Amino acid sequence: MEQGKKINSLDVATKQVDIAAERLKLDPGLREKIKQTKLELTVHFPVKMDDGSIKIFTGYRIQHNTTRGPAKGGIRYHPDVDLDEMKALAMWMTWKAAVVNIPYGGAKGGVQCNPKQMSPKELENMTRRFTWEIALMIGPDRDIPAPDVYTNPQVMAWIMDTYSILKGYSVPGVVTGKPLELGGSLGRYEATGKGVFITAQEAAAHLKIPIEGARVVVQGCGNVGGIAAQYFEKAGAKVIAISDSKGGIYNKKGLNVASALECKTKYYCLITPGARMGDEITNEELLELDCDILVPAALENQITPKNAGKIKAKIIAEGANGPTTTEADEILHDRGIFIVPDILANAGGVTVSYFEWVQNLQELLWNEEEISERLIRILKKSFAEVLSISLREKVDMRTAALMLGIGRVAEATRLRGIYP
Ligand code: GLU
Repeated sequence: MEQGKKINSLDVATKQVDIAAERLKLDPGLREKIKQTKLELTVHFPVKMDDGSIKIFTGYRIQHNTTRGPAKGGIRYHPDVDLDEMKALAMWMTWKAAVVNIPYGGAKGGVQCNPKQMSPKELENMTRRFTWEIALMIGPDRDIPAPDVYTNPQVMAWIMDTYSILKGYSVPGVVTGKPLELGGSLGRYEATGKGVFITAQEAAAHLKIPIEGARVVVQGCGNVGGIAAQYFEKAGAKVIAISDSKGGIYNKKGLNVASALECKTKYYCLITPGARMGDEITNEELLELDCDILVPAALENQITPKNAGKIKAKIIAEGANGPTTTEADEILHDRGIFIVPDILANAGGVTVSYFEWVQNLQELLWNEEEISERLIRILKKSFAEVLSISLREKVDMRTAALMLGIGRVAEATRLRGIYP
């Protein structure tokens, strides 16, 4: 995934706002206001490593916008984490919450690190110290972290514990995506991948492409890609390729998703010799495979002007945040490829995060059926709203989703007014 390195995600996110704001005819001052982050914190902090040494890490917590409610968004552990990436991801969270109309603003955080080379103890030390560093910003009524790339329910448990110790009492509502035993919600773990499947299914129905027998390609096999792939397979689609950061496997007859994921869990790698279920391919080759539905569910800037002309999918359902650049969007639109944009396709995660937070605040528990019904209802309604804007305004689905999200934030800003 080398090609993404040179592209700045904040430039992509900013250009997207300009396109949507132009369509919405937003006042220039308001446009500037919603582009800017509200609050950004950079911290450099020490962590005791297993060999006794002390290592300094750099982390961020960004609140992009809190006009519609408390800031909400994940925490990412990855070597590429930097300020601009965090600002872009926080901005996308603001639009995402607004598209599905849940009362949150947008945030993102992360630590620049390589979690694959760290022991569980080192990860715990880093998480606890990072939580302490950002504790002044987070809280159930101000900013609520959640899992993102290479963080998981265990990391959320450490954040919740550290924050609770600081406060002197248990505060489950400070993070979502927690283990069930600590106030996590049923259905949260699979929510993002499930949402990708639900919205792709809506797109397929709109385009009259049957899901049964549809050829699906998935980039990424984590909490988003792996779970989406399982939902597609269950619905009778043929998952013909799936990958991790090192590369993928391709079998045009269809892969057994469960076996592929099992292999990943067992060997930490999909393309391990001996466990081969298909041909080995690179992540670049995977994106250009002949298929009906492509699910980029890894990192940003994967679909660029370099490969947009070669993509053969009919539908792209963006499991990742920001996988497509603005120039690539234009190429795909001209070629008639239907995109379910990230802020709609992967909004299932933050939607069930919201359910988790509501349950924590009210100290009640919803069952799996209630969660699933509410999630499906919200995502189907949001898809229909975005599609109707796209058809009415004759814009692509991304612009339509941004118009819906940004329009809601702009209206909320107008109603609240500028203080003083
Ligand atoms: N990290 C996820 C996202 O990008 C989930 C955020 C959340 O649940 O707050 O949407």
